[in-house]
Amino acid sequence: MTDWEAVIGLETHVELSTRSKMFCSCPVDVDGLPNAACCPVCLALPGALPVPNEKAIEGIVKIGLALDCEINESSLFYRKNYFYPDLPKNYQISQYTFPVCEHGELEVDVDGTTKTVGITRVHMEEDTGKSTHVGDGDGRIHDADHTLLDFNRAGVPLVEVVTEPDIRTSEEARAYGAELQRIVLALGVSDAKLEAGSMRFDVNVSVRPRGREELGTRTETKNVNSLRSVQRTIDFEIDRQIKVLESGGTIRQETRHWNENTGVTTSMRSKEESEDYRYFQDPDLLPLEVTQRWQDEIKETIPELPAQRRERYIAAGTDDVTAGVLVDNGELGALFDEAVDGGASGRSVGIWLTGEVVAYSRRNDIHIADSPLAAVHLVELTTMVDEGKLSSSAAKEVLIGVLDGGGSPSDVAEAKDLLQVSDTGAIEAAVDQVLSQNPDAIEKISAGDMKPFGFLVGQVMRNMGGKADPKIVQQLLRDRTAS
Ligand code: ADP
Ligand code: MG
Ligand code: ZN
Repeated sequence: MTDWEAVIGLETHVELSTRSKMFCSCPVDVDGLPNAACCPVCLALPGALPVPNEKAIEGIVKIGLALDCEINESSLFYRKNYFYPDLPKNYQISQYTFPVCEHGELEVDVDGTTKTVGITRVHMEEDTGKSTHVGDGDGRIHDADHTLLDFNRAGVPLVEVVTEPDIRTSEEARAYGAELQRIVLALGVSDAKLEAGSMRFDVNVSVRPRGREELGTRTETKNVNSLRSVQRTIDFEIDRQIKVLESGGTIRQETRHWNENTGVTTSMRSKEESEDYRYFQDPDLLPLEVTQRWQDEIKETIPELPAQRRERYIAAGTDDVTAGVLVDNGELGALFDEAVDGGASGRSVGIWLTGEVVAYSRRNDIHIADSPLAAVHLVELTTMVDEGKLSSSAAKEVLIGVLDGGGSPSDVAEAKDLLQVSDTGAIEAAVDQVLSQNPDAIEKISAGDMKPFGFLVGQVMRNMGGKADPKIVQQLLRDRTAS
């Protein structure tokens, strides 16, 4: 039997959240009253002329820079010609040769190993309108009675990010999609809502016998709108293609549709080639100039990206998983940053925030930002643990008390009687008492048998109601039993 290898490339569409559309001043209002946000330009009435949106260009340059792309100082707008009812111009303004950004890469983490995915290009285009198929077709055109058209989305700035065929597994594809979404969100250029379609994936999949250089024939599954569906689409296609090939068939280059309910992809049409689109440079638009100076200005506005944040959290003492949770949860991340800036231990704060605090917010269905917990409390709490005033399990209980509105950690610790005794005198007394009751244990320890040591620590802790600092107890016991 052949050992097959999958080859995957993703095309991701990201709708930019600019105030106005890509080539006219209509507001971006995709969910508003249908066909209310339209004008002669986005409806392609004769004589109307497009003017590029400066904010959208800044948005795509930010995405390109975040993906380590080269930014072309001069790029070109093309017309991609095809007929579809949701496309009033009968062509889409897009890019072809000379896109705004090319030759980038994105590093993603897949189960602890780093995978580098090449970015072929990031280009600027405009979105189409929206068709709603009404009737028995389950939202699809087949069996629909009629179709409603809404052009509010026509002309909304759309960025397309195309990868090299570097991805090998559905997990890698998912990790790539998730990281791209985080980057877009961190840049603030799109709301990147998968379920609402403001970020969506076209999934290209082929298989080849492992070890063969040449690529197999790919299929392209369009408009997949969740990370889970991306993964399922890929797993399904890999399986389907292998079965076809092993039974002597061939894969057709075609466009397919993912059906979320049935979990299968079905053929939509044979794949169009770029010749079919009769691309030509849009005579209404000049070459787009992004000068080095403008690029540098845009670079200045790029915030800390998810990968840098993750690294910073790990440097502050968190593990990989904790760092990932903090990156994905802005509220927790902000609290972490403020606490660590205030001198708290990153390791402890990371554990508390992603453990007790997340669990508390889920249990009580609240946002942590709306709870009484503040960064100063976390700083105080780590200090109390470091100074031996609280055991680590008591610290967790105190944390819950603070979240419940019990005041500062010292207030809560006092009220709940959780403060640890680090007064050496009191502990010494308890140690001496336990030792006088257990002479045989001392004998064994003096003879080099350390087994009773834990027992003695336990006895002292018990005598002190569990509130002695165990470090001091151990130290005192060690001193007293040393021969
Ligand atoms: P098109 O617009 O025709 O789909 P693009 O060049 O925009 O072409 O995108 C093609 C995508 O398909 C890229 O992500 C590329 O990496 C991927 N791809 C190309 N060839 C293969 C292949 N044989 N198997 C899997 N993916 C492929
Ligand atoms: Mg494509
Ligand atoms: Zn318009």
